[in-house]
Amino acid sequence: MNLLEYEAKSLLARYNIPVPQGSLYHAGDPEPTAPLVLKSQVHSGGRGKVGGVKVVPEQFNVTTVANSLFRLEINGEVPQTLLAEEVLDIDHEYYMSLLIDRSTAAIELVAHRDGGVDIESHATTEFYKVLVNPETIESTGEGLAEYLGLEGQSFALQDLLQNLYHCFVESDALLIEINPLVLTHDNQLVAGDCKMSLDDAASFRHTDWQFEQEPANANFVVLDQNGTVATIANGAGLAMATVDAITTKGLVPANFLDIGGAATVGGIMRSFESILEFPQVNAIVINIFGGIVRCDEVAAAILEAKEQFETLPNLFIRLSGNRSTEAAELLRAKGITLYPDLSTCLEEVAHG
Ligand code: GDP
Ligand code: MN
Repeated sequence: MNLLEYEAKSLLARYNIPVPQGSLYHAGDPEPTAPLVLKSQVHSGGRGKVGGVKVVPEQFNVTTVANSLFRLEINGEVPQTLLAEEVLDIDHEYYMSLLIDRSTAAIELVAHRDGGVDIESHATTEFYKVLVNPETIESTGEGLAEYLGLEGQSFALQDLLQNLYHCFVESDALLIEINPLVLTHDNQLVAGDCKMSLDDAASFRHTDWQFEQEPANANFVVLDQNGTVATIANGAGLAMATVDAITTKGLVPANFLDIGGAATVGGIMRSFESILEFPQVNAIVINIFGGIVRCDEVAAAILEAKEQFETLPNLFIRLSGNRSTEAAELLRAKGITLYPDLSTCLEEVAHG
């Protein structure tokens, strides 16, 4: 799950990492006073290069600039909000990020002396890369200061690195990228921009997470982009058996999904949304053996999905166990067929 810049910066601020003063600006809000920077809050990067970051000088009309940003589509996304920030008096822009190095399963620091919008073209010159661990993080910070030529800010940089490390670990981050890390003319280090990606699978640990992008269902696995039969099941075993049965029938399963015991209507609706992204799916097999999961909850989600999505593929449903009688009543009242077991479902799928 990727955070918007303002969400990422508010996490940084919680860990005492300096960020510019700023606030959110929605269409129609009272006009803030220039000078300021207006930044389009969309998920994709590279906003600067396409005009998604605008410095509005003193006496200029903020609303006019804001309106143009609200209309500017960046990689298919228009912003719902802008971030209005104090203008930084930039002396130099650096690049700094923490990420998980897959081969060592360790957290890696990646830095570059020349950050900013042209970082990709700097890829020819070496990035500074070093693994980070809590025991030696102070000297890592010192080494970083030396590499960046920021010896004068060594202590501030060490603090920043330690805070960033704690933020990374405690937030279950996969990536935190500060680009640019700004050195101002009065020698302050400030996170000018931040990109943050958090691990969806850790969302259960963070009941306070409330970001614009919702965590993906951690138990939704894409099997074949061009699969024709999608699956919704509960329990990993039953979900695997469902996928296997589809394959045995000579059909191509698109996904594996275990909705788990705590399935809610909202969660199941998100699963339908994920399924609708497969271009070839023409059948959805719903195979629920309700132990903890309530079949009537699943039935409610099915009815809502039928209402909300015009192009829902045919459903082949088998529900048994916890509250399946109530579920059957709900569905039959709307003329939806239920099947007694998976093999009958699949017979029907195979017949089209
Ligand atoms: P990105 O292009 O999506 O990564 O957006 P950034 O927030 O990184 O902004 C892009 C560029 O805009 C930065 O590299 C800076 O050069 C410039 N910029 C952003 N904020 C300020 C600011 O407060 N003052 C000045 N002078 N430039 C800024
Ligand atoms: Mn940036």
